[in-house]
Order: sequence, then structure tokens, then C-alpha cells
Amino acid sequence: HLVYIFINNELVWPSACKDEKIFELIKCLNNNSEYILTPDKKIGLFPMISENKLLGCIVTKSTDNILSEKEIEYLEQLSNQAATTLNRANVYAEILKHATLDALTSFYNRRQLEERLKQEVSSAKRQKRNLCAIMTDIDFFKNVNDTYGHAAGDLVLKTVSHVIKTQLRDYDVAGRYGGEEFALLLPFTNIEEAEMVAERLRKAVETKKIDISKLHPDKKDISVTISLGAAQYTADDTEETLIQKADKALYSAKENGRNKVTI
Ligand code: GH3
Ligand code: MG
Ligand code: MG
Repeated sequence: HLVYIFINNELVWPSACKDEKIFELIKCLNNNSEYILTPDKKIGLFPMISENKLLGCIVTKSTDNILSEKEIEYLEQLSNQAATTLNRANVYAEILKHATLDALTSFYNRRQLEERLKQEVSSAKRQKRNLCAIMTDIDFFKNVNDTYGHAAGDLVLKTVSHVIKTQLRDYDVAGRYGGEEFALLLPFTNIEEAEMVAERLRKAVETKKIDISKLHPDKKDISVTISLGAAQYTADDTEETLIQKADKALYSAKENGRNKVTI
């Protein structure tokens, strides 16, 4: 028999299935389905259902014999066990997400940020490679909350973090350090490059129009600015001193008028 595995109605193994009938049959499955056999007993669909939820399906297709009683029984057991395992993997992924990511911004939460900071500082030390940290904080954010409400403030936070994320490379680290303050770690980056990144972030946020009309009827777009402080890791730095240096630079960007990058 040929075997196909579908997860969430998508073929995941093997890479192709030429039998259109299988794709049609897959659509008939729901959260309470039993297995389905075609009238000629050559195609069998064995749903993977766990906790009343259809997760996927194992499909067998015979080009010769019909599926025997014994094979059907075996495939039913297999799909049930696979469903339990899949469900556990999904639950685990969900728990991991909640434990490591900040719900509002999808940046790393503070705890995971500390973990990644430790890893990045340790690799920079061991492999003698460049690492920079950027601390950034939204300017006059309290005004946004006070003027347009907390929900608009949340939307601004979400949008700013998204703008930042789209400007970073895959292996950069972005964490929510505190309320409206983010810490970014840029591996393989020297201070000149970090300054350019920070400047790019500053501009991207400054020019982003945030539509709050759903939350505040008489206002459409608002915009905010951020201040940024960047620092480069040096051999005598620890995780704490690297962040302190970037924080100090951020403080001075605030002192010097905000919407600025300081190194
Ligand atoms: P500055 O330019 O000096 O940074 O001024 P600021 O107003 O941004 O700074 P301040 O620290 O006075 O205000 C930060 C505000 O951020 C206060 C707090 O209510 C708000 N805040 C922190 N976390 C959240 C959040 O998750 N959602 C919303 N809506 N507001 C938040
Ligand atoms: Mg602020
Ligand atoms: Mg702040």
C-alpha cells in the first residue's frame, strides 16, 4: 500500500500525492469522524483525533489488494496513537511559547531575554566575536496612554515592536525589557553597524503611521518616536555591564532631546 500523512488537511508526507480523490475525501473528515473506506476498499482514511479535535489523517491506498480487516484494525490503532503524540507535541509547543514570549509584542519576555543574553555574551567571549546591545524606549509614551487610552497604548506598543522586528536579522535577539522598553542583541555586529541599525529603527518608527481610529473615533493616525542607546561588548564586560552601558547611552539620548541614537 501507498501511505500518505496529512496534518491539518495538508499533505506532509511524502512530498506529493497525485490522487485527487484523496484530497476530496480528506475534506469529509471532521472532529467526530470514524475511518473512511472507499467502496472498492482500496483507499482508507484514518483520522488522527485527540481530545475531540481532528489533527490530521493517515491515508493508505492499495493498487492491488483491498485493505484487510487486520490492516484496518492496525491502522486505526496507529492513527489513535499518532494523534495522542501529535496533541502532546502541540501542547508542548504552546506552553513553550507562553513561557518564553511576551504576549503583547511577541518579543522574548524578560526571563528568556536574560537567558539569551547569557548565551550571546558567552559566545562572544569564547569565539572573540562582535556583539552589540541596543536599549530602546518609546518617547513620552505616558502621553499616548493619557490622551488616547490604554488600549491605544497597547496597539502602539504592538506596532512599534513589529516595526522593530521587521528591521532585524533572523539571529538578532529582541526582548521586552520592561513596560515600553526593549533590549536588542546584535551578534556579529560592531558599534558602527549597530549605530546604523539603531538609526534605521529610529527612522522606521518615526515614519510609521499607527491607525487608532477603531479605539479612538475622532483620531486616525498617530505616530511616536523612540530613543536608542547602543553599546559594544568588550572582553571585560559581563551581561550586566553590557546592558548598563546601552542603558546609559539610552539615558543620554533622552537627555539630549529624544528621538535620537546615542552610542
Ligand atoms: P520618556 O520619553 O521619558 O520615556 O517618557 P515616557 O512617558 O515614555 O516614560 P514613563 O516611564 O513616564 O512612562 C512609561 C509608560 O508606559 C507608563 C506606563 O503606564 C506605560 N506602560 C508600560 N507598559 C505598558 C503596557 O503594556 N501597555 C500600555 N498601554 N502602557 C504601558
Ligand atoms: Mg518612555
Ligand atoms: Mg520607560
